Amino acid sequence: PFDVLVVGGGPAGATAAIYAARKGIRTGVVAERFGGQVLDTMAIENFTSVSHTEGPKFAAQLESHVRDYEVDIMNVQNASRLSIDAETGLVDVALASGATLQSRTVVLSTGARWRAMDVPGEAEYRNKGVTYCPHCDGPLFKGKRVAVIGGGNSGVEAAIDLAGVVSHVTLIEFDSKLRADDVLQRKLRSLPNVDILVDAMTTEVRGDGGKVTGLVYKDRTDGDEHELALEGVFVQIGLLPNTEWLEGAVELSARGEIVVDDHGRTSMPGVFAAGDCTTTPFKQIIVSAGAGATAALSAFDHLIRTDVP
Ligand code: FAD
Repeated sequence: PFDVLVVGGGPAGATAAIYAARKGIRTGVVAERFGGQVLDTMAIENFTSVSHTEGPKFAAQLESHVRDYEVDIMNVQNASRLSIDAETGLVDVALASGATLQSRTVVLSTGARWRAMDVPGEAEYRNKGVTYCPHCDGPLFKGKRVAVIGGGNSGVEAAIDLAGVVSHVTLIEFDSKLRADDVLQRKLRSLPNVDILVDAMTTEVRGDGGKVTGLVYKDRTDGDEHELALEGVFVQIGLLPNTEWLEGAVELSARGEIVVDDHGRTSMPGVFAAGDCTTTPFKQIIVSAGAGATAALSAFDHLIRTDVP
């Protein structure tokens, strides 16, 4: 068995693996997509000591740093079940492929993903005009009209970003006001090719069968429906933790986040968690990486206090 098995290969998982491997203990990482959300990120300018880098480059460096150590990396593998082996006391991580990995401790770092609107047309036109990643897909809409759904930091950042590439941006917020930081809102309002709609509920994405042609929203102040003619819809309404597979195994919050204490412990003995999949506030690379270090050191602490199963 592994001493520490990390599930997830984003900034949290990579850091946990490095910290564990540096203790000279048997370490593995199983990841659906090594690198995690960073792979979908363009500029990163808030990781201390790195003034500027790009997501895919950062992700490649995460992996090469982990490979500096003796870590068993199992990429493109999906964990589907977590349990304790009653006989051995080891933690079992079952993979979708059918295999089961055993470890004395586990660090869960499965991150999060963008939330969908769940309106007609959204799924049908995904990647045919509906997208969740402005950094990845913005250039595809050069000179075209787009909407950004969501007035939080990510939505307003996306609108500012896209305004420099596309011909026109409509930002649509369900609430009566935007929630983004003031500095972002000021920047957004200074842009000539951006309209901001509040109290607006998106009800449908329309298309011609092949691609998006418009979006329908309801004005929540009078109930009237309106259609906007456009080519792209960027959905920016929050993150969902990748924890469905853990339901019933470890304690989750009402939002589905893994409940952790200040040592990264979960409700299951020997199982720790870190990063965007947990209740820790602020979903950021540096925060996740720090939590990964905490979780790995806690796992090591657990190992030296526990009889070898
Ligand atoms: P993730 O990066 O989400 O990694 C999760 C890992 O777990 C992945 O390897 C995934 O494949 C794997 N996984 C998930 N489920 C399973 C499973 N069942 N089995 C096996 N593996 C699984 N943060 C910043 O600090 N600065 C920025 O500039 C910045 N820009 C961003 C831009 C975009 C477009 C996005 C999407 C995010 C941005 N963030 C930024 C946020 C940052 O990327 C995240 O906070 C960070 O990646 C979280 O790291 P993590 O390791 O917790 O999770």
